[in-house]
Amino acid sequence: MGIIRDHIPEFEFSIPVAIVGAGACGLTAALAARDQGVDVIVLERDKRPWGSTSMSLGAVCGVRTREQIAHGIDDSVERFVADVMVKTCNQADPALTRLIGERSGPTLDWLALRHAVPLKLDFKWTGLGHSNPRLHIPPGRNGEELLALLANACAKAGAELMTEATVTDLYADACNRVLGLRIERPGGVVERLGCEALVLATCGFGGNHEMVAKHIPEMAKAKYFGHEGNRGDGILWGMELGAAVGDMTAYQGLGTLADPQQIVVPHPLMIEGGFLVNTLGRRFTHELANISGMCVPVLQQPQGLAWVIFDERRHLACLEHSVEQRQLVEVGAVRRGETWAQLEKACGLPEGSLQREDADINSSRDAGRPDRFDRSFVGLAPLSPPYCAVRVTGALFHTQGGLEVDRAARVLRPDGRALPNLYAGGGAARSISGAEVTGYLPAVGLCMAITLGAIAGESAGRQCA
Ligand SMILES: Cc1cc2nc3c(=O)[nH]c(=O)nc-3n(C[C@H](O)[C@H](O)[C@H](O)COP(=O)(O)OP(=O)(O)OC[C@H]3O[C@@H](n4cnc5c(N)ncnc54)[C@H](O)[C@@H]3O)c2cc1C
Repeated sequence: MGIIRDHIPEFEFSIPVAIVGAGACGLTAALAARDQGVDVIVLERDKRPWGSTSMSLGAVCGVRTREQIAHGIDDSVERFVADVMVKTCNQADPALTRLIGERSGPTLDWLALRHAVPLKLDFKWTGLGHSNPRLHIPPGRNGEELLALLANACAKAGAELMTEATVTDLYADACNRVLGLRIERPGGVVERLGCEALVLATCGFGGNHEMVAKHIPEMAKAKYFGHEGNRGDGILWGMELGAAVGDMTAYQGLGTLADPQQIVVPHPLMIEGGFLVNTLGRRFTHELANISGMCVPVLQQPQGLAWVIFDERRHLACLEHSVEQRQLVEVGAVRRGETWAQLEKACGLPEGSLQREDADINSSRDAGRPDRFDRSFVGLAPLSPPYCAVRVTGALFHTQGGLEVDRAARVLRPDGRALPNLYAGGGAARSISGAEVTGYLPAVGLCMAITLGAIAGESAGRQCA
């Protein structure tokens, strides 16, 4: 894997725009390049496109979308930038953040109107760092549907998709202009494809254990719950071509991955009044202070485990809209008790522990004040029997550091000059999460994939048009 500079072959086939990776970023880039009237191919290592995009909830944040305006939400780029800066303690790149604020809304509108990818504004995930409702979700509320909608749109737009095509190397000249790609196909067949511009949509490096250990040592031993094909290929090629990278220590984590079933426990259960205890039956944190950063305190608990505690009323409400909640039931991950004592027994928690924590929450709610972790339950109905629980652990979802790009999604060198014909987006590019796990705002991952993907595809298309 790397950059080949000697013995550049005669390419049998050549295409104006090549894109590596068929997740949300690559497919959106393909649509944007096709809109510029140029031929494009998306190369994907898997048999069918999946990526972290399909594993996700499919929620994309967007600013000043038609959906927001139709619901009377008065959002602004300034408010988005301010939210990102608060969340990241001013560590996010202000220019990139503003670009995403400006372009995310028009990009979601363009996908809906021109390419029949309709995402609806969601009100279940309000707050959590966004000062306005900004999350846009596909009708079926999952990432698999988002990817299918994008793939269908690509087929209609005439963007070619080649699956089972692992790009192993790039060919480049002495000026770091990408000339083509080396592709491995099933049965050891090797193909070489020339290109005029290349978009890197290979996501981050969560599936590359060496890179995780180097850049994010605190998660070196944690579970990785993103797509295994995200091995940092695009980032490594970019670096070999002389690109700058930023925020390589940043990542999105989650403290509520069902253990051992590996299904994400829907967060609305906690937003609406559920809480976390460790295996000693003790609460240990403000459950909503930081969704991404929650993986750290969870992993610090005995055995790196915790329990999400909620009640059957919330469970049934969640079942209506959450695929994950249904899956949790199917695999038997949800424990149940008619009383706190029964649930404690079902979970192997110390006698009286859940009842004590619940009483503590209720007394702060009744007094109209935040609890000992500064979380307020005021306005939320108390949990009522029967009660439920799911055992969880902390995991790494996807990395947030990557290649530095400019307003046209061109990959930049450390001195700020752009590489001649290289573009990047999604998890392959530096995000707007700052340098820490705590800087990740909900739905920014797909926002970076779709918004930068659209910009990269458009710019690459223009370069070749
Ligand atoms: C469980 C989970 C839930 C999430 N929920 C959300 C959410 O609701 N909202 C949100 O904004 N973000 C969410 N995220 C993050 C989000 O999924 C990612 O930020 C986003 O999918 C990145 O898109 P992408 O196109 O960059 O990468 P991907 O969708 O991962 O696509 C990259 C593709 O590149 C391919 N590839 C890599 N290297 C090569 C190569 N050498 N040759 C050929 N192909 C290659 C891979 O096989 C893969 O298909 C979630 C992540 C996880 C894991």
